[in-house]
Amino acid sequence: MSFGASTRTRLVAPILPAAEIGILGGGQLGRLIGLAALRLGYRVAVLDPDLEAPAMAVANRSVVAAYDDVDAALQLASTDVVTYELEHVSSRVVEALLRYTPVRPGLAPLRVSQDRLEERRWLESVGAAVAAWREVGTQRDLDAGLEELGLPCRLKASRGGYDGRGQLRISDEQDAVRAIEQLGVPGPLLLEREVDFVCELSVVCARGLDGRVAPFPVAENVHDRGILVSTRMPSPTATAVLAAEAQSLASHLAAALDVVGTLTAELFLTTDGSLLVNELAPRVHNSGHVTEVACPTGQFEQHVRAICGLPLGPPDALTPGAMVNLLGTGEGRPARLVGLESALADPAVAATIYDKRQVFERRKMGHLTARGASAEEALERAQRAVRLLHWAP
Ligand code: AMP
Repeated sequence: MSFGASTRTRLVAPILPAAEIGILGGGQLGRLIGLAALRLGYRVAVLDPDLEAPAMAVANRSVVAAYDDVDAALQLASTDVVTYELEHVSSRVVEALLRYTPVRPGLAPLRVSQDRLEERRWLESVGAAVAAWREVGTQRDLDAGLEELGLPCRLKASRGGYDGRGQLRISDEQDAVRAIEQLGVPGPLLLEREVDFVCELSVVCARGLDGRVAPFPVAENVHDRGILVSTRMPSPTATAVLAAEAQSLASHLAAALDVVGTLTAELFLTTDGSLLVNELAPRVHNSGHVTEVACPTGQFEQHVRAICGLPLGPPDALTPGAMVNLLGTGEGRPARLVGLESALADPAVAATIYDKRQVFERRKMGHLTARGASAEEALERAQRAVRLLHWAP
């Protein structure tokens, strides 16, 4: 597949420091966007329901409210630009803010990515390949869909799922009997053929106000039960031709959605060598953390540059790198990390800790990045370091 570059341009003045950037969502991505914004001299206002959310520490102004609280969100109407760090922000909030201030990457990317069925339809409409799928509302739809698609399949909530939540695997007829009830989510569902993939890839692509795109190198990701475990950049598996194809695909999608900011395309590389889009995220991404050590301009600064109308930095990797997520373990309790002094003894390793107050099993608490002569070596170093960390009982 090959796609042309977008020609759409905007003649709009850049947003310069000390302008205020509003961030919808206060998680780790908001925190790291905020840090990049602060470094460039911007001020940051964060909306999140939790006053202790990770991004609140970098906010000059906090708005404590739900992601669908339109009245509260209008406190960000005075900001110079608003962005979002998660796709579960209500589109009504974005619509309301758009009357006063630009919201980037935009309303269309948010709408498309917050509904998996909508996302599948849109991806097909712009010529991107996805796994065979059906919309499912009833048991009869499910049975018919399984008949057509064949086993095994994945049944996914259309809205609200993340990190592997809101989906289940159907491997035999027995699984199908209670699948809808077991998933337990309202509304139509996405039934999708399970993809026989060689590996999972992602491309974080920034797109500026002038329509220029800057895709980062292709990342190769390993997931465990839906949660990202590790990333290598550049992908050791993708050939140069395939990597260029993946970057071109992500760039095309960013242009087709008229993104200003970053868009991440999560892809499957199938056993027959083709690329299928699994999911879009109109934002910086967990798999993009490695850009912070592998590329001259990391994804967070790139995102801030893009939404403020500044020139994009060079996205090419300077060195191979890897990232390993630091996940929580055990029962819910106050978070106290042990072993950072040992993990950082390796000079190739860097740590980013999100300062979440509570730790629990599989919660994303931070990540380690490493550089190396190869992405493989970088991964080994990051993995060695993460094994030296644990959460106090
Ligand atoms: P998702 O929430 O859709 O990103 O899914 C989380 C993870 O589940 C993916 O990263 C894959 O590892 C796996 N997965 C999701 N959909 C499929 C599929 N159709 N075929 C194979 N694996 C899948």
